[in-house]
Amino acid sequence: MKMKMPNEVIEALQKGLGYELYKTLFLNYGKRGEKAFFYLLQNRVKKYKDFFVVVGRNEYVVDEYFCSCPDFQFRLKGREPCSHIIAVELAKRIKRYDEVDAYYIDYLKP
Ligand SMILES: [Zn+2]
Repeated sequence: MKMKMPNEVIEALQKGLGYELYKTLFLNYGKRGEKAFFYLLQNRVKKYKDFFVVVGRNEYVVDEYFCSCPDFQFRLKGREPCSHIIAVELAKRIKRYDEVDAYYIDYLKP
């Protein structure tokens, strides 16, 4: 499943990482939208060869409409996108992410 994004968010995104984007994200997603905006602004989205990873207090793996964070899995129960999924979706649309020439899965091995 892929995340749907409201047109007003997409339009604001095309105008840049400014107040209008911040506002539409906050109005559509509340706190999660606000967090996503800052993940994007602070270049916290990384694209590994296998997954996108968002670096917050912890690192979370995002794959399409899935995130490894507890917020998505337990609180939202997969019904709504968490801040990491929103951030990755935004980052992909404007190609604002750091590309890492490695497989993230290699870092997870003991
Ligand atoms: Zn998440």
